Amino acid sequence: SSAGLSAYRVLVLGAPGVGKSSLIGQFMTSEYLHAYDTSIGLRLPRDTKFYSNSNESTQKEAHFWKYLIITDDESGERSVCVLLAGEESEITFLDSPPEHVISEGCAHGYCVVYSTADRGSFAEAERRLQALWAAGHTARRAVILVANKADLARSRLVPTDEGKSLATSYECKFIETSVGINHNVDELLVGLLTQIRLKQQHA
Ligand code: GDP
Repeated sequence: SSAGLSAYRVLVLGAPGVGKSSLIGQFMTSEYLHAYDTSIGLRLPRDTKFYSNSNESTQKEAHFWKYLIITDDESGERSVCVLLAGEESEITFLDSPPEHVISEGCAHGYCVVYSTADRGSFAEAERRLQALWAAGHTARRAVILVANKADLARSRLVPTDEGKSLATSYECKFIETSVGINHNVDELLVGLLTQIRLKQQHA
């Protein structure tokens, strides 16, 4: 039975080269989980590989675990199962889906990604946020502006404050990440799922 497992779809949008595919790949991987607490009562799909996130503080505070259950390379969709705050959810990521899928509005969440080292990608992110906002998705769905490649300090062209104020003006969340040095990647996953759940409650 799949009772209790909620499944969510998240669209990952942004200019080419900003790290969308790397980010989704990083969501799918983590340190292998050796110790596994059976008292949590997780269902165990066959061939499940368990992973824990690498950030111990997130793990303790948010009771956050993720594990990979499906990898569907042919459709380009990748899913990860996350146990957060005692609740299990499956999140499927769609990397740069076609326009008609974006405008359908049946996703539960959107990650709009730009590179802090690429001004053009920031402009593209603004266009995306504008479109999501105008379509009314921002009010009902989880929308997160992701400033990736934060490790490239010397080639930074988009200051943190600019990203933050763009997110504020389109009423969405903001996070700075680096897939390169695995900074804030699990935090993004936790924030995304938290926002999705909040918006579902108020839907
Ligand atoms: P996509 O076209 O948006 O899917 O971007 P990719 O995931 O293919 O990444 C484009 C390039 O940026 C690749 O060479 C990645 O290794 C690199 N990249 C992705 N994330 C980061 C990051 O946080 N820091 C750095 N320095 N490079 C990154």
